[in-house]
Amino acid sequence: MTMMNRENLEELFRKHEYTDFKWIDPKEFVVAQWVRMKCMFGCDEYGRTATCPPNVPSVSECERFFRDYKDAVIFHFEKRVDKPEDRWDWTRELNRKLLELEREVFCSGYEKAFLLFLDSCNLCDGCPGVRSKCKEPEQARPTPESLAMDVFTTVRKVGYSIDVLSDYDQKMNRYAFLLIE
Ligand code: SF4
Repeated sequence: MTMMNRENLEELFRKHEYTDFKWIDPKEFVVAQWVRMKCMFGCDEYGRTATCPPNVPSVSECERFFRDYKDAVIFHFEKRVDKPEDRWDWTRELNRKLLELEREVFCSGYEKAFLLFLDSCNLCDGCPGVRSKCKEPEQARPTPESLAMDVFTTVRKVGYSIDVLSDYDQKMNRYAFLLIE
């Protein structure tokens, strides 16, 4: 099988209707302990989703994992929602579609292809919150934040904008990552 090059991969992304993306060297990912602290204290998904802390590797292991890759793509999505919970249907569908893309990249010879969801895994209702009890273990993926990535600083490095929202009338900017090698 001939390995796809960047150009071929970009064609594949566009075929899946992803036109807003940027390449980034995973060495540029900013990984920080404060991100894990924010998961542990202040996030209501801590321990409730089987792909969120504490169901993830340590911060230093996450950093090492990212360093295993030579390339990554950031996919940008934006949306305005009326209520915080309205975002779930939107992100669930997007995450499922991104899994199809990850699979195609994998099948084209990039055996390390690994997707980071743009929102906490909510593929099924009633997540047991424990990795070993995950209902769709082959599909579930972590978010970059759950792997201790400072997404704010990382996406700004490639020129994307992201801000803390003060209310839900504002447009959300969300980012999924695809690690490729
Ligand atoms: S696939 Fe389902 S059970 Fe597994 S982490 Fe995602 S929501 Fe939870």
